Amino acid sequence: QVTVLRLGHRPGRDERMTTHVGLTARALGADKVVLANAARNQADTVIDITDRFGGPFDVASTEKPKRLIRDFEGRVVHLTMYGEPVQDIEGDVREAHTEEPLLVVVGAEKVPFEVYEHADWNVGVTNQPHSEVASLAVFLDRLFEGRELDREWENPERVVVPQETGKRVVDPDE
Ligand code: SAM
Repeated sequence: QVTVLRLGHRPGRDERMTTHVGLTARALGADKVVLANAARNQADTVIDITDRFGGPFDVASTEKPKRLIRDFEGRVVHLTMYGEPVQDIEGDVREAHTEEPLLVVVGAEKVPFEVYEHADWNVGVTNQPHSEVASLAVFLDRLFEGRELDREWENPERVVVPQETGKRVVDPDE
């Protein structure tokens, strides 16, 4: 079980990024995203994509993200440019994840220091500044060792048929 927590959403500034954290979490194998202080629109977009392209994938929101981290029953990974290199700790995280749920935390603006303290691992995907969407994607791909790319989706209304050129989307019930 992998849950992604998106911290620090700033209304009006982070809307697309928050939506993209949710969509990336879903597409790359997480089971759930929790959006902190996000507007209903971001959650609705992720729910709508899950309805159309399949699940299972849960979307929730919280007004108390620090409490969620503190009370999480499992291990906590915080993605930050200041953390230990992902390539050094991915084996330990993968091993722990065979037995315990994982919470993967990404930020937006400045992340409170308590998050660094509560995390079991502060993990850098490079120690260069970039983006929560990019770091989440690389981290999940490392965690699942690429198996998420072959995931099957349940109850889709729409299925993309890969094409060398052009677009083909079918309704699997037709
Ligand atoms: N400067 C902010 C801070 O002090 O936490 C971070 C801003 S960054 C635009 C937003 C989020 O992207 C971070 O909270 C982190 O989750 C993620 N991020 C950015 N670069 C990263 C990196 N190299 N490795 C892991 N995560 C990264």
